[in-house]
Amino acid sequence: MQEPGQDNAAASSTPIHRSFLAPTQDFPRSPRHQSLQCRWEGCNSSTIFRREADILRHLKTIHVSPKAYPCPEWGCNKAFGRKDHLRAHRRKCHGQ
Ligand SMILES: [Zn+2]
Ligand SMILES: [Zn+2]
Repeated sequence: MQEPGQDNAAASSTPIHRSFLAPTQDFPRSPRHQSLQCRWEGCNSSTIFRREADILRHLKTIHVSPKAYPCPEWGCNKAFGRKDHLRAHRRKCHGQ
């Protein structure tokens, strides 16, 4: 008969369970912020919108209404809200 070392037994009975029972610190709650991002095709805005109203305004002003500067190149149906964007696009995509 081998007797288990008393010391070992004592050591193994160290109150490990306590650490399991210890009340967890404030559980890191991830506040469910609505994170809305524009998924408009071709939009490279990385803005995270907090409110739906904000993204709607973005969509409206950037994508829906002001296609004030459509690309005049044949077959290209891009349009831009700003003239300099159109110009940059034409330079980049059409070599003009
Ligand atoms: Zn967008
Ligand atoms: Zn174009």
